[in-house]
Amino acid sequence: MQKIVLKARAKINLGLDVTGKREDGYHLVRMVMQSLKLYDRLEMCVIPEPEIRIRANLPFIPTDQTNLIWRAADLLRREFRIEEGISVDLNKRIPVAAGLAGGSADAAAALVGMNRLFHLRLSGEELMNRGVKIGADVPYCIMRGTALSEGIGEKLTELPPLPHCWILVAKPGISVSTKGVYIRLDEQKGWEHPDIDGMVRALEEGSLEGVTERLGNVLELVTVPEYPVIAKIKQTMMEKGAEGALMSGSGPTVYGIFREEAQARIACSAVRKSGAARQIYVTEPFQNRRTDA
Ligand code: ATP
Repeated sequence: MQKIVLKARAKINLGLDVTGKREDGYHLVRMVMQSLKLYDRLEMCVIPEPEIRIRANLPFIPTDQTNLIWRAADLLRREFRIEEGISVDLNKRIPVAAGLAGGSADAAAALVGMNRLFHLRLSGEELMNRGVKIGADVPYCIMRGTALSEGIGEKLTELPPLPHCWILVAKPGISVSTKGVYIRLDEQKGWEHPDIDGMVRALEEGSLEGVTERLGNVLELVTVPEYPVIAKIKQTMMEKGAEGALMSGSGPTVYGIFREEAQARIACSAVRKSGAARQIYVTEPFQNRRTDA
């Protein structure tokens, strides 16, 4: 039985702005996205039984139709009238419900895997058009690298890579509802918009400093006052030499950008020692879009 292994990469938002709301309730965003080397591992193989079987290494990950991997596999099985089934072994390492798009990355990897296993010959763009039906971040998780994401997240423009750096990712042990965060943002009177255009220019100039001085996420307006642990982690990272620190997506994960690995590791120990987070990773940006590995 042919078996393939895929790496589903986490993402962070270097910038996240909300610019409006569509009539159907979806928020319009402008985001600078960055993939990380931190990944979930998916092992996929074709099975003769006409079903989608998912096994996960963590007990709280759903393995039924609510798993985004299931939805991705089902979407292509139906469209291409595939009779065989698929088995997916998920090794989850990306913190869950964290603002790191772990579920979307898994769905993206499952679409890529189905395309390969069943020789569907779909282009990247064709896969992205299907991915958006599963979630707004799925097209980006297929594209990966550094990108500007607009619309509801589906309008993607490739950007020059983030200059090399080390990224410390720390997820506090609290749950934040993405929907709740957006509802509370709508109640705000207005906000200062992060300088997304300036960040794009800084990337074009290859300036890490230009990027880090413009890190901004409007959703912090809601989460920082409500969850002091977010500001606490940011402060620890900054005190330990981060060039910048920000909450990713709707949180609660915070990341810090460091020039040197040693600094990132010292900050990692400090965050761990403070007790503010238990899921902490030192990682790097992921840039190579051509390999799936
Ligand atoms: P985003 O950054 O897109 O808001 P997130 O990091 O907040 O994503 P996920 O980790 O993608 O959130 O998962 C949120 C919820 O989705 C989980 O609590 C889980 O019940 C469900 N879920 C469905 N499929 C998956 C999957 N493959 N991996 C993890 N969670 C999944």
